[in-house]
Amino acid sequence: MNRLFGTNGIRGVVNIDITAEFALKIGKAIGTYFKTGPILVGLDGRAGGLMLKNAVISGLLSTGVNIIDVGLAPTPAIQYAARELNARGAVIITASHNPPEFNGVKVVGSDGVEISTIEEEEIERIYFSNNYVNVNWRLIGGYERGGDILKNYMESIIRKVNVDLIKKSGLKVVVDPGNGVGGLVTPYLTTLAGCETITINSNLDGFFPGRSPEPNDESLTLLKKTVKEIGADIGIAHDGDADRVVFVDEKGGFITGDKSFALLVVKTLLKNGGGRVVTPIATSNIVKDVVEEYGGQLITTKVGSVIVARTLKQVNGVIGGEENGGIFYAPHQYVRDGAMGAMLMLEYLAETGESLSKLIEKLPKYYQVKKKISCPDSLKEKLLNKLKENLKNYKLDTTDGVKIYADKGWVLIRASGTEPIIRCYAESYSQKEAEQLSKWGVDLVNDSMRELTV
Ligand code: MG
Repeated sequence: MNRLFGTNGIRGVVNIDITAEFALKIGKAIGTYFKTGPILVGLDGRAGGLMLKNAVISGLLSTGVNIIDVGLAPTPAIQYAARELNARGAVIITASHNPPEFNGVKVVGSDGVEISTIEEEEIERIYFSNNYVNVNWRLIGGYERGGDILKNYMESIIRKVNVDLIKKSGLKVVVDPGNGVGGLVTPYLTTLAGCETITINSNLDGFFPGRSPEPNDESLTLLKKTVKEIGADIGIAHDGDADRVVFVDEKGGFITGDKSFALLVVKTLLKNGGGRVVTPIATSNIVKDVVEEYGGQLITTKVGSVIVARTLKQVNGVIGGEENGGIFYAPHQYVRDGAMGAMLMLEYLAETGESLSKLIEKLPKYYQVKKKISCPDSLKEKLLNKLKENLKNYKLDTTDGVKIYADKGWVLIRASGTEPIIRCYAESYSQKEAEQLSKWGVDLVNDSMRELTV
C-alpha cells in the first residue's frame, strides 16, 4: 500500500504535494478514523497553513466530528491542549524544520502523542479507498474557536520551574524563534521569569526570511554574533514549530543537542535523586556517562521522536532527549517541547550560578563524525543483514541498524527513513580516533554493498 505518513507526519511542497484537495481528503479520512470528537485543529506559521487548515476542517466536519480551532501555536502547545481539553485527538498543520516551501499534517491522539503506525495505516487505508463517512446534513460537525491555549500551556511550563530563582539570577537572554511559532511563547516565558530578553527573527513569517527553520551551527550565525556582542548569558533557538530547542553559550559558541540534553539530564537526576532517561541509540556517550554518574537508568530506543515519547511514557521516565535538540520533560508532557527545554536550561544556569560554557566544559569529552552513503531503498534491509552477518564476532546492538562497540568507541550504521542513504555515525575519545572509526564504518558498508551486488 502507498504510504502518506513519514517518520513525522505527512509532509510535502505546498500546492504540489500538499494541496487544498489533499487536505480536504485527509481531513475526511482522519474524521472517519476518529469517529468522535472533539478534534483540535491548529497550525504553525508556514505559508499555505490557513488554506490547509480550513480544508482539513471542512473534511473533518463532513464526517460529523466536532472540531475546536486552536489557531496558531507551537506544536507542543497543541499537543498539551489535546490532553488538557480531553480531545479525542488533534490535527496540526506543520512541517517542523523543513524548508519554507514545505507544509504537512501531523495527527496526535488524546494523550498528545503522535498516533501509532498502525493508526496511520488505518487512516491511509480510508484515504486510498475513498471510503469516508459522509453524515446526514443535520449531523455535520460543530465548529468552535478554542480559548487561549497558549496561556494554559505557558502556565504549565512556569509551574515546572522555580521562577523566583531565575528572577534572582538576572539572566540576559537572546531568543531566536527563526520567524516560527516559538516567538508566540518563549520570549514571554523568559520575560515572565524576569530575564532581560532580546529577540531576533521573532516576527512570524511563513517565508522564513531570517534563517532556515532548522536551527544548527550554520543557520544561527546572527544569534551567535548577537549573544556575544551584547554580552548575553545564553542564546535560545527553536525550529519552525518550536518542539526543539538548541542553545548558544555566552561566548557565542553553538552547543550541540546532546550536550545540552546531558546538562538537563544532570539537573533532572539531581533533582529527582535518579530516574529513567530515554534517548535514541545515536546519542553521544556523554549522556550515557552522566546518567551513570548521577544514578539514573538509561533506556535507548530507535531513532525518532515518536518512539522516544512513547517509551518515556511506558517506562515512567523523567526526561528524554535527542541530539537534534528534542527535550521531553515528563512532569510537563511526554512529547518534545522547545519552550520547556529552554526554561529548564535557564533554571539550571540559575541553580548553578555558572556560565553555560563552563557547564559544558565539565561534561565528558567525545568526538563524533557523521557520514552518509547513498543506497537504494530496496537494498537497505539486505545490506544491514549482510553487515550483521559479517560482524558477528563483534559486540553489536541492533535496536536500530547495527551499532558496533569497538575498543575506542562505537560506530552506528542505520538506514535513513526518508532518503535513499545509509547513515554512519562514529564516536570516540579524540577527533582522530573518531575519523578512523568512521572510515572503518564506511568501508564496512561499501564492502557489504559490493558483496551484495556482485
Ligand atoms: Mg519541529
